Formats: sequence, structure tokens, C-alpha cells
Amino acid sequence: MDATKLIHHPYKAPDSFEAVVPGVHKASTVIFEDTAALKNRQWKDKSGYTYGLHGTPTTFTLEERLATLEGGLQTLLAPSGLSALALVNMAILRTGDEVLIPDNAYGPNKDFARVELAQWGIGHRFYDPMDAAALALMIGPKTRLLWLEAAGSVSLEFPDLLGLLNVARSHPELVTALDNTWGAGLAFDAFDLGLPRKGDSSGVDISVHALTKYPSGGGDVLMGAVTTRDEHLHLRLKMTHMRLGLGVGANDAELVLRGLPSLALRYAAHDASARRIAQWLVARPEVAQVLHPALPGSPGHAYWAQLCSAAGGLVSVVFDGQRFSAERVDAFVDQLNLFKIGYSWGGPMSLVVPYSLRGMRQFGALSTQAESTLVRFAIGLEETDHLIADLANAFNVLAG
Ligand SMILES: *Cc1c(COP(=O)(O)O)cnc(C)c1O
Repeated sequence: MDATKLIHHPYKAPDSFEAVVPGVHKASTVIFEDTAALKNRQWKDKSGYTYGLHGTPTTFTLEERLATLEGGLQTLLAPSGLSALALVNMAILRTGDEVLIPDNAYGPNKDFARVELAQWGIGHRFYDPMDAAALALMIGPKTRLLWLEAAGSVSLEFPDLLGLLNVARSHPELVTALDNTWGAGLAFDAFDLGLPRKGDSSGVDISVHALTKYPSGGGDVLMGAVTTRDEHLHLRLKMTHMRLGLGVGANDAELVLRGLPSLALRYAAHDASARRIAQWLVARPEVAQVLHPALPGSPGHAYWAQLCSAAGGLVSVVFDGQRFSAERVDAFVDQLNLFKIGYSWGGPMSLVVPYSLRGMRQFGALSTQAESTLVRFAIGLEETDHLIADLANAFNVLAG
């Protein structure tokens, strides 16, 4: 047996191979034809390949498709949605700067500011996403980055996105970054919001997307994306991305590539089912408040209606702490059968998580606060009637 022949084999498969899905290319090492190629190859764009961390045909293909989905120019992949958020913070912020974060932002992004950014001498404050006038008073000479999220994590208020961005527009040095996971590039166009143009964007400067949710659609992969329309901003993010050594595995990229063609259909199905369930929940006497941006009366519904027609699969409800203790709400959640208890969303299976409202929010868009419990439902792709029957059964237990 010739071991060398098994490593340096003369057979090369022909180049032209067309199939429904793009190939999965795996590499740490990329091989150069000669030393001149090694020395001259550019890694900062997609003109060639240098090293697995800087891109393969598989990751380039996924980046291009995501840039198209979000209406951006360039996308960078990160190993999770949270690492994509952290990448933006680290690329944009320097010691002495301040970042403003909406009160209802994804919790771990708030924690990143409270702990990691604080250690590097970077300040942060939380703002009320429903109050653009208050934001205008908070922006100062040190404010470098403004986070936005629509709808808000867990409590699903839809912010005054246009009002907040309009305020940011009067500070040209301020970078705006949206956590676009909820909208998924489908509910609204983050870079085309009809605002006065800043560079090539009439919306945000940066969109971050937890691909873990809708783009994957399977509940079986973690990945994040950072998309921009500005070449300079992209390069700044790309340099930090490279220095941090952020990369994603080819098999994970393959899973997301496989999810993308059905993304719009799945989003619409989650959306239709979630709306029916939200309507059904409104009629339940046990529930103090139903939170769903497409529901008239839900916080920020008018702001949602300005920009969106779709709303995705998340619905939250608030149980008044005076009527139902946290323990009784937990028993209600435990009684659910089709809704499994677990974080995340965007996959086929419906999920549920109870959250204590105590200390969760500084500003009050929710009808009851303090001792109340919020339950977030992620509506999956099961039959809506079956999900409603599951909820009805658990409500019987709650009623005692
Ligand atoms: C899930 C989520 C993230 C983080 O994504 P991971 O891949 O789980 O790290 C960030 N933002 C929002 C709004 C999310 O829902």
C-alpha cells in the first residue's frame, strides 16, 4: 500500500458539477499554486482563498445569500448570534466611548456591556425604546454606538424605530446597529426604511442576525451574521473578526444554506399560527396582557404597522402577580405538552419559557410589572388547533 498515493492522488474530479445545493468545502489549509500566489492573494475580499478562517466557497456563498436577504452589501459569519453582537461591540467601541442599549434588548447583549465593556472603560446606558425624544437627550460626545432591536426580546414591544433612527441621523459619527433576529430580513428592510440617506443606507448601519433562529429553522445549529451596506464599516468589522479568529464550520454553514430556501414560507407559517393563537389568548380571562406586535393594543403596534406586515412566531403573555403566583404559572407551563420548555425559537417545535418581570425592565410598556410573570411562546409549525387545545388544557389547570 502506497500511503503517499492516498494523500497525493492523481485523480481530480471534473470541475463542473451542478446540483440543487452548493457543495460543502472544508478547509483549514488552502493550497496555493505557487509562492507568488501565496504572497499576493488578498484575504480581505472574496477574490480568492487564503485560509479556512478567512472563507471557503461554502461560507462565501452563505454570506452572499444573507447579504441579499438583509438588503446589505457584505456579511460576516460568527459562531453564534451572541458572538456576532459581541463582534460589533468590539469593532466599534474604544475606551472612553459610550454605547446606548434599548431596555428590551436581548439580555446577554446587556450583560456584555455591564461586564465586559465596563472592564475596558466603555460606558453604557439603557434607553426607553418607545421614547425617541428621551433618546435625543441621552446622546452625547462619547456616544459611539446605538443598539436597536425590533421587536424587543421577550416582551415584544415594537420600538419607535423610525423616530430613534431619525434622532441618530443628527449625529453622523454615531453607528447604529440593529439586532434583526426577530424580523429575519423579512418583516422590514433594515437598510431601506425611507429615512434621509446616510451613505448608502436609508436605515441602519449594521444588522446583526442570530441565524440560530429562523434561517436555520431546525433548532440544531448556532450561528450569527453581521451585515453592512458600507464598505468601510465592513472592513473595520472584518479586521476585528479576523483578529478574534471568528469562523464557522462548513457543516453548520451547510445547515443554514439548506434552511434559507424555505425561510420565507416558514416565517409566514409561524406568523399565521402565532396570530391565531394571540387572538385566542386575548379572549382568555386569566391573561392580563397579550404581547404581539401585530395585535392592536399591544405596545408599539402603531410603530410595527408603520414598517411591517409580517410578525413572525413569538407571542408573550403577562400573568398578574396578584392573581397568579410564579409557582402557579410554572405549573401551567409544566402542564403544556406540545410546547416544550426551552430557549430559542424559529424551529419546527413550539417552545415556552416563563420569565419573572422583576428587575427585567427599567421603563414600563407592560401593563403589570414587579411580581408578575411573563410567559413567552415560540409558535412552531405544528397544527394551530393542536397548540390551542394544549394551551386550553393547561389553562384549566391554572384555573384550579
Ligand atoms: C437568540 C438571539 C440572539 C443570540 O443568538 P445565539 O445564536 O443563541 O447566540 C441574539 N439576539 C436575539 C434577539 C436572539 O433572539
